Amino acid sequence: MSELLSRHRAVMPSWSPLYYESPLEIVSGKGSRVTDAEGRTYLDFFTGIVTNMLGYDVAEVREAVERQIAKGVVHTSALYLIRSQVELAEKIARLSGIPDAKVFFTNSGTEANETALLLATHARGSDEVLAMRGSYHGRSFGTVAVTGNRAWKNSALSPLNVHYLHGTDHASPLFRDLSEREYIDRCVADLRAVLDTTAPNVACLIAEPIQGVGGFAMPPEGLYGAYKEVLDEHGILFVSDEVQTGWGRTGTDFFGIGAHGVTPDAMTFAKGLGNGFAVGGVVARGDLMDGLGALGVATFGGNPVSMAAAGATLDYVLDHDLQDNALRQGRTILEGLRALRELPCVLDVRGKGLMFAVEMVDPEIGAPSPALAAGVLEATRERGLLVGKGGVHGNVLRMAPPLTLSTEEAAEGRDILLDAVHAVAEQA
Ligand code: PLP
Repeated sequence: MSELLSRHRAVMPSWSPLYYESPLEIVSGKGSRVTDAEGRTYLDFFTGIVTNMLGYDVAEVREAVERQIAKGVVHTSALYLIRSQVELAEKIARLSGIPDAKVFFTNSGTEANETALLLATHARGSDEVLAMRGSYHGRSFGTVAVTGNRAWKNSALSPLNVHYLHGTDHASPLFRDLSEREYIDRCVADLRAVLDTTAPNVACLIAEPIQGVGGFAMPPEGLYGAYKEVLDEHGILFVSDEVQTGWGRTGTDFFGIGAHGVTPDAMTFAKGLGNGFAVGGVVARGDLMDGLGALGVATFGGNPVSMAAAGATLDYVLDHDLQDNALRQGRTILEGLRALRELPCVLDVRGKGLMFAVEMVDPEIGAPSPALAAGVLEATRERGLLVGKGGVHGNVLRMAPPLTLSTEEAAEGRDILLDAVHAVAEQA
């Protein structure tokens, strides 16, 4: 064990998601690549946890932050006007498509979702919430309550009355042989049954358009539009958790939920927006946001340094049309990876834009195989590529490269992945 790893184990929580048998210490980054403490460089197809969406050391972001720091006043909290905060809120409100939208800035995705749950439960006067199986929404009481992924639910107490919906468990026998239409109809029937039989006064549904931690599970596009029709009949609010799917990553839409043909009442965001700096937030219908009252204040949320980073990052995404780049690069990578489906140890290859996954199963019995996924993780690292892992069973390789990925880097990463999965499959 390295010296740093043993010190880490001694003072950090014992449950830790550290990747690799011999965990990496990343010390620097440039573009789509990072370098570890031993001087080895890797192409990064996971960018932290989907955090550096422009890659590393982007001059525009660094200089915007440096300019702000040079001004001296760094954190003025919510007591004074902050121009960069208002300007960024205006942009996000406009991009959201939500009518009369208002924005509240936080420091993380957890806080963003907690805020959305607060405003929805307050507006509806109810603690009853719908969430999706397999979801991950954060690590506070409220967000753990709506998380439907067993590994991340270590709390016995829930402040919310949560009902989980089908829709993202598409590998289950419930859905496997259905057409998309039949799949959606079955989910809608399930939602109606939940509302008619067990949940009389629901405040909101919270859902990720493509589940992040849940292994990039992708329900058929149109599912959330169909859900929303039913929700509207009951006045139930819809919160789209865009923490992983926002800012053009999915290629076809600026926010992932766009592909479902629906405008939510609120969207939450975090991760990529600060390109490494801590920024999160909620964009919601103004009337809902105003209902937050004094809870719509955070000491560090919307601070000028975060706003400088986020403003520069968002401008970069828009100025360089990175949504289109995500679409193009994602398509070529996914087309190349599809061949892996022929391997008995690969259950699925799926994705959208620069968000794609390979799901590993035991070739003998077809059960989810976290061991094979861990094998591919090690094999990609050996070949100079960093990828992510996830899924309800920990058997899904997740890739979310920077939106700035070049065609050459896309091909390089795709080829390493193909080689690594084949190498693991040969030994499975
Ligand atoms: N929502 C989604 C979809 C996420 O993937 C995450 C983190 O992985 C969160 C919320 C929580 O965000 P944070 O870790 O910034 O609190």
